[in-house]
Amino acid sequence: MAIMQPYPGLDELLEMIGEAGQRLSEIDSTEGAAGNISVYMGWELEPRRYFRDIEMIQLPTTVPTLAHKSFLITGSGRRLREIIKEPTAHIGFVTINEGGTTAQLYKAANCRFAHLTSELNSHLAIHRDHLEDTNFHVVIHAQPPYLTYLSHVPAYRDDVYLNRHLLRWEPECIVHLPEGIGYIPFKVSGSTGQEEATVAALRQHRLVIWGKHGVVARSDSSVKRASDIIEYAETGARYEYLNLVNQERGEGLTDAEIREICQAFHVQQNIFYLGERLLASTDNFPIYKLRKTT
Ligand SMILES: [Zn+2]
Repeated sequence: MAIMQPYPGLDELLEMIGEAGQRLSEIDSTEGAAGNISVYMGWELEPRRYFRDIEMIQLPTTVPTLAHKSFLITGSGRRLREIIKEPTAHIGFVTINEGGTTAQLYKAANCRFAHLTSELNSHLAIHRDHLEDTNFHVVIHAQPPYLTYLSHVPAYRDDVYLNRHLLRWEPECIVHLPEGIGYIPFKVSGSTGQEEATVAALRQHRLVIWGKHGVVARSDSSVKRASDIIEYAETGARYEYLNLVNQERGEGLTDAEIREICQAFHVQQNIFYLGERLLASTDNFPIYKLRKTT
């Protein structure tokens, strides 16, 4: 998917990032300076109206196919909830140089960070994997507490168990997350292992849990869409938690009810299946493929 003209200008993009940061903060997913956002814009933008200072930076991962492409990226140690008040203080404009090992970082006069997010390697690698078919791409990392808490409970590390339990609590979940939520076991932030596992999981999912850490969401339609799917998944996790502490008295939507929703809204999914028939045809059902490869 690509977004159509008229393309949003820098002011609008900064405002959208600010609104997403604010909403993620309202749902307690950005404690302290946790979380980061990056946005790829595949059209001409002049950074110097907002970001006048330029420096060359070394990139944490080599991305030659991203040469000459531009991104807005949050700074390390910045608070997502504060972006909305003064976006240019917390965000840099980055254009990747030829060869993909360095970039031009444009900073504003009121810039309050020295470096970009420490998870820049994963952000860039995820963008690299998706830019072929789009002119706009958003990656958000946040730390929603219920999703993260459940990743500490061993049963929820199985992607089939995870999805069947989290997506059963409200009708919207399966509509917005038809491929389910991906899961990656704990990896240290900024590591190559985290980067590679995240890229692989986001080929099949819009949202991935980083075990014992948080989540990463991507969208090629809007910044808010990426934060919305975090919110839907977090709401599912919250219901699941409530149910765990209430002696599992809740029923959740049944498989048949979820399939009814999917039929009405033309949603293709493979999580709330019909008996053995779908379980047997693993090739067409990424959720099972993912389990085999991790
Ligand atoms: Zn984090």
